[in-house]
Amino acid sequence: MLDVQAIRAQFPLLQRRGADGRPLAYLDSAATAQKPQRVLDALQDFYTRYNANVHRGIYAIAEEATAAYEGAREKVARWIGADAGEVIFTRNCTEAINLVRFSWGRANLRPGDELVFSVMEHHSNLVPWQLLAEETGARLRFVDITDDGRLDWESLDAALTDRTKLVAVAHVSNVLGTVNPIADIADLAHSRGAVLVVDGAQAAPHLHLDVRALGCDFYAFSGHKMFGPTGSGVLWGRRDLLDAMPPFHGGGEMIREVTLERSTFKDPPAKFEAGTPNIAQAIGLGAAVDFMASLPLDAVHAHERELVGACIDGLRAEPGVTVYGPDLDHRSGAVAFSMAGIHPHDVAQVLDADGVCVRAGHHCAQPLHQRLGVEATARASFACYNTQEEVGRLLAGVRKVREFFGDVVAGPV
Ligand code: PMP
Repeated sequence: MLDVQAIRAQFPLLQRRGADGRPLAYLDSAATAQKPQRVLDALQDFYTRYNANVHRGIYAIAEEATAAYEGAREKVARWIGADAGEVIFTRNCTEAINLVRFSWGRANLRPGDELVFSVMEHHSNLVPWQLLAEETGARLRFVDITDDGRLDWESLDAALTDRTKLVAVAHVSNVLGTVNPIADIADLAHSRGAVLVVDGAQAAPHLHLDVRALGCDFYAFSGHKMFGPTGSGVLWGRRDLLDAMPPFHGGGEMIREVTLERSTFKDPPAKFEAGTPNIAQAIGLGAAVDFMASLPLDAVHAHERELVGACIDGLRAEPGVTVYGPDLDHRSGAVAFSMAGIHPHDVAQVLDADGVCVRAGHHCAQPLHQRLGVEATARASFACYNTQEEVGRLLAGVRKVREFFGDVVAGPV
């Protein structure tokens, strides 16, 4: 059994009360997670005790800052089963994916090459590939989903040809909650000579990752969704690929020698971290990893599974509610739903009046919503600190929405 109250006590924001005096039911962790005290303390500690630039100063606080920044990299590396030299700090998951686009993509793609991604991708794992295709003359191919929201294996197999250079797929969908079989996808991509880029934004907050067991070539995620500060993100890449890649940004910190005509570059990860990095944020992400490592992860998974299960069952029992995505065994984290004849923004607004925070819209996945045949959905998403009582408040809110808008609902409910 997970001691959820002990976890909640570590999150100051979860003590905040809504207009009705009850604690907020924060069901939007897929957008960004709340921050535990130890992450807030790490930020405060950096700025108040050893704020200095990294990799430069030879005085004590600069050395402390460098040790903490590189220490955070080592924590992240250990957490995902990688070497520190393969962990590049970025601003967020989006920047990590764009690093692959600009650096690996421009160096490796030629006209006629093919890029493959699925219809369930977040725009962050879709728009960069569209732009890369325009920049290089490569072509895009798409992978469909099954009607229950899983990756369609036949469609994936058919999309991969001997011209495929890159396959991009989410580890966990931010709308459907689908957990994709990354190791199997990696085997298939590699059998066709392609590299696999995994968008791990929604997996990192829930799973203890092992990038080598996953078998992918690049793995991108955001720190702020895994209890770290905004402005922190990570790209993990296979060392041999990173070694061969040109720099992303050019500037200070990433060079070995500079003349007026040309420059030589440091080894990864420094080669990809030009300029002053987000030092405090990286250190805060290290504290977030400490927080996650302090949790009994099997119990967290069981707890989150129960929350998602209760949410899906409760929503499905409501007349007129459609829940998207696969069964409980193939999902994690997020539950998107719609209510017949009621706009998701209205759903979110009524829930907000009861202190229940859910997101409404296309969740940066417009092609997926087109595939599902809806313009927008409401989405509840869960983290280790959520409770069954909060699921109950969501379901009560949904019933209230139906009563409130009941008169205007036309057609079958
Ligand atoms: N991919 C997925 C699956 C996401 O859910 C998100 C965030 N909503 C992103 C990528 C982008 O993350 P960020 O905005 O932190 O770059």
